[in-house]
Amino acid sequence: MKTIGLIGGMSWESSHEYYRIINETVKDYLGGLHSAKSIMYSFDFDEIESLQHQGKWVELGQLVIDAAQKLEKGGADLIVICTNTVHKVADEVQNNINIPLWHIVDATAENINEKGLRKVGLLGTKFTMEEGFYKNRLTEKYGLQVIIPEEEKRQIVHDIIYRELVIGIIKERSKAKFIEIIHQLKTMGVEGVILGCTEIPLLIKQEDVDLPLFDTTTIHASSAAKYALRT
Ligand code: GLU
Repeated sequence: MKTIGLIGGMSWESSHEYYRIINETVKDYLGGLHSAKSIMYSFDFDEIESLQHQGKWVELGQLVIDAAQKLEKGGADLIVICTNTVHKVADEVQNNINIPLWHIVDATAENINEKGLRKVGLLGTKFTMEEGFYKNRLTEKYGLQVIIPEEEKRQIVHDIIYRELVIGIIKERSKAKFIEIIHQLKTMGVEGVILGCTEIPLLIKQEDVDLPLFDTTTIHASSAAKYALRT
């Protein structure tokens, strides 16, 4: 079994979901007393969030590269960045390590393609929804059509993530807003919606809506664990 190097703390509310899911996946496959081999480097999210909102992505990228290199030196066989947003610096990280980075967009897009969907909605931070690093990979590498909510709704989603979900606050009112936004995306013709922020699945579950949801936390963590089990 390969050792998974997890880069977490972004936020820890979702990192412990990653830890749970990779262990459950290994247990499901191997049974008995088996669990995942992993090492986690966990950031202080306050530092990460402030670099993001100041646009200091080079500095943030350097911190993530350092973390990935520490995990590689510590014996990790692959790297998993436990957040969608920080995949903005994924290419730089991959270029500075000698082990594979298990990319969240690739794992998610493969899942969408397996289900035969072509047009999907994307919910996440404004960085993830508005910038090219995420959408372009879905479009150019996987031929998917990606729709995002209108500006005002994107701000609502972004604010709920940073003011509530990353600090473990789950509100019925915010859940209702997300459901409304997902219904609006449906009227724009999407066949499914990517929950492209690793804390959104703490708020919205598949049973809350009638469109297929792509929970990036579960997809990313479980696919990394299955890769770790491959010989
Ligand atoms: N975990 C979130 C994501 O998947 C947002 C926190 C962050 O900025 O990394 O994008």
